[in-house]
Amino acid sequence: MDWENLGFGYIKTPYRYVSEYKDGLWNGGILTDDDKVVISECAGVLQYAQTIFEGLKAYTTQDGRIVTFRPDLNAERMIDSARRLEIPEFPKERFLDAVDKVVKANKSFVPPYGSGASLYLRPFIFGSSAVLGVKPAKEYQFRIFATPVGPYFKGGIKPLTLRVSDFDRAAPHGTGHIKAGLNYAMSLHAIADAHEYGFDENLYPDPATRTYVEETGGANFIFVTKDDKIVTPKSDSILPSVTRRSLCYVAEKYLGLKVEHRPIKLSEIENFAECGLCGTAAIISPVGKINDHGKEILFPSGMNEMGKITKKLYETLTGIQTGKIQAPKGWIREIF
Ligand SMILES: *Cc1c(COP(=O)(O)O)cnc(C)c1O
Repeated sequence: MDWENLGFGYIKTPYRYVSEYKDGLWNGGILTDDDKVVISECAGVLQYAQTIFEGLKAYTTQDGRIVTFRPDLNAERMIDSARRLEIPEFPKERFLDAVDKVVKANKSFVPPYGSGASLYLRPFIFGSSAVLGVKPAKEYQFRIFATPVGPYFKGGIKPLTLRVSDFDRAAPHGTGHIKAGLNYAMSLHAIADAHEYGFDENLYPDPATRTYVEETGGANFIFVTKDDKIVTPKSDSILPSVTRRSLCYVAEKYLGLKVEHRPIKLSEIENFAECGLCGTAAIISPVGKINDHGKEILFPSGMNEMGKITKKLYETLTGIQTGKIQAPKGWIREIF
């Protein structure tokens, strides 16, 4: 494998985990080499988008262990997502065990330390039985597949350009806070449209007033003030990113920075020194510019590099993940 030149795309690996839910129970679950899913043409997932997912990575640490990062938070978030879409919960302990099993079974696809690549894990649950009237399916599948992904900043670090979107991502009291496929289906047109106009991503403001910052289609915001304080947007319709929560902890406990989690007005962003997008894929991608209907906000960190604090946060968290820096208790789950 040419680990360094891998992108972020699906590559079939030998084994995936499947557990089926029927008559009110999840069955034992197996590893299988069959990557095909056969379901009714009228399955809940196909007709009414009854599906949720997670995303996490397995990787090799400096001392050669294969680990995952805070998978318990993915398990818990998937339970929250399940409740909101009337999907039966997949128990946390079983989720963790299934993740371990998939990584072990696809061991030769876990990239070596230093490659910057990792084995991306995609747990998902979907309604598999037929539903015509609008109601939850009676049967489900929980699956995890694994696919190797390359280093995120392959061509070097290029700060992103965002636009403030006129499309909405998540309604108040809607499903923005859960990891559901439906939140992504409706973002596809918005992202295609952003790309057409030369932007990398959409900044979604709050749909009710369009005056507060929420998030992008797949990452949370982290801002840095001119006096090195971390500020992250607070709203009930933002997906609670594991990376963002970890970075805020690191900022406070490892770097001694003040952290504020509060509603952030769109009109405030021009005062920030740095801006980043956080998620499992990149940890933090720096944002260089935000375009608000023609008004351009250029962050002082510019279009060529990560801001000073963004870089420190990035290095500290990746250091914790790879075992170069002591991790807080319970953050690293060793597989072997
Ligand atoms: C998955 C996701 C994130 C990032 O969450 P992580 O747990 O850090 O990977 C942020 N926003 C949205 C909408 C997401 O779906």
